[in-house]
Amino acid sequence: MKDYQAPADLLKDRIIMVTGAGSGIGRAAAKAYAAHGATVILVGRTVSKLESIYDEIEAAGYPKPAIVPLNFEGAAVKDYEELAMTIEDNFDRLDGLLHNAAILGSRTPVELYDPEIWNKVMHVNATAPFLLSRAMIPLLRKSPDASVIFTSSGVGRKAKAYWGAYAVSKFAVEGLSQLMADELDDERNNVRVNSLNPGATRTSMRSLAYPAENPKQNPTPEELMPVYLYLMGADSRDVTGQQIDAQPK
Ligand code: NAP
Repeated sequence: MKDYQAPADLLKDRIIMVTGAGSGIGRAAAKAYAAHGATVILVGRTVSKLESIYDEIEAAGYPKPAIVPLNFEGAAVKDYEELAMTIEDNFDRLDGLLHNAAILGSRTPVELYDPEIWNKVMHVNATAPFLLSRAMIPLLRKSPDASVIFTSSGVGRKAKAYWGAYAVSKFAVEGLSQLMADELDDERNNVRVNSLNPGATRTSMRSLAYPAENPKQNPTPEELMPVYLYLMGADSRDVTGQQIDAQPK
């Protein structure tokens, strides 16, 4: 999968939403999807970062994206429902959803973990993807062939000391991914749902988690894009309910 070579028109005419599209892996995915023909809905909390990736996509001559400023910390149920209505009015359907936005929280033992940080991490990393999925499922069902990708982590499959709410939120994401894969595996079978662990990647979140590490030892987000493209495009049509590693050991 990591050697997948995506055809140039893999995502032609597709409508694809990427959360956390302003930086790190989400930014690289938004650009890679646009480069392969998709109209990308850029969701994130920092408008200036969304505007900068918007400008980059436009300058490259890729399909014009859309910007949706949304802070998962404070967003209400109705914000997600209104977003679904806006997408329905403008595009009628959604062909792909990359749940990528997340926060690290603190690296602290459970007995000392601040409950407020716990709630915030669980909300941004697990409850927000639920609320967004809940609102988007009707639009995904309208696609001839839709892909939902949840972003997991190594500690979302095997917890490690001090990873706190981040690890637990990623276990929740794995659960939501399995739940949706099973529920959408119906007679139409047009929506596939998988979880993807990017593995150690050169981003600001990785530097926050491992401040002493040399960032150059990890691949850039761009280097992971073959897997992100494979899972988003029709070549992965029959893949659902899987836990995938972008950097298998
Ligand atoms: P990153 O550079 O910190 O990017 C995280 C993105 O999430 C940013 O665009 C950020 O927006 C957005 N975000 C954070 N809080 C938000 C909120 N309240 N509302 C809306 N958007 C919010 O991290 P990354 O490394 O690219 O991580 C991407 C995904 O990969 C995450 O799910 C992470 O858990 C996972 N992952 C990463 C690694 C790694 O080594 N990098 C390893 C395993 C898993 P702003 O830019 O505006 O802050």
